[in-house]
Amino acid sequence: MNGKTILVVEDEASIAEVVTLYLKRAGFDAQVASDGRKAMNAFERGQIDFVILDLMLPEVDGLALTRWLRDRSDVPIIMLTARREEADRIAGLESGADDYVVKPFSPQELVSRVRAVMRRLGREQAEVGNERSLSFENLSIDPLSRTVKVKDAEVELTAKEFDMLYLLARHPKQVFTREQLLERVWGGSQYIDPGTVTVHVRRLREKIEDDASKPARLLTVWGVGYKFEP
Ligand code: CA
Repeated sequence: MNGKTILVVEDEASIAEVVTLYLKRAGFDAQVASDGRKAMNAFERGQIDFVILDLMLPEVDGLALTRWLRDRSDVPIIMLTARREEADRIAGLESGADDYVVKPFSPQELVSRVRAVMRRLGREQAEVGNERSLSFENLSIDPLSRTVKVKDAEVELTAKEFDMLYLLARHPKQVFTREQLLERVWGGSQYIDPGTVTVHVRRLREKIEDDASKPARLLTVWGVGYKFEP
């Protein structure tokens, strides 16, 4: 037992059962809620360390439930979606889910994703107050002096360009939506057009890429957002 309790919110009993079985085998405690309302009740009773929830739920749907959870806590959330549409995945991430898994999925894969999200969030917490410099081939980023060097030559970045590059580079290969970048880099305190992100990515590419029209570092994930390739 590792002491973590995972709430599985799924109205299809057979799926809830197999997911629970695999989670328990992996050493987690698991509870099942068969609709959104029951999930809220379970969460309010406390002791939930992680939530796996289905997008399609009776009573309160998965997106509304995710927003409800996010208003109250930073509990890690993985969303299950039966549909392959990008719009659902983006809506899931924007509502505050940390990751999503498309049905049908293998229970073992889901357990791996749970562990990956736990590792990732654990690292992020450890990073708070730990501004470490990053070096990649031909690119180094120093958050203390806020300098970026490309092939040993310093490049001038604006404050927001630096913040965005540092955020993406600290999480290599992790996809961020435009809205997540706005939230994390601009603070989300005021309305800023998501196009702002696109413009900043373009300027960053011109400064750090060999060929800005064929980026090798700041990659576009079509229909979702951006990621940093280490
Ligand atoms: Ca369902």
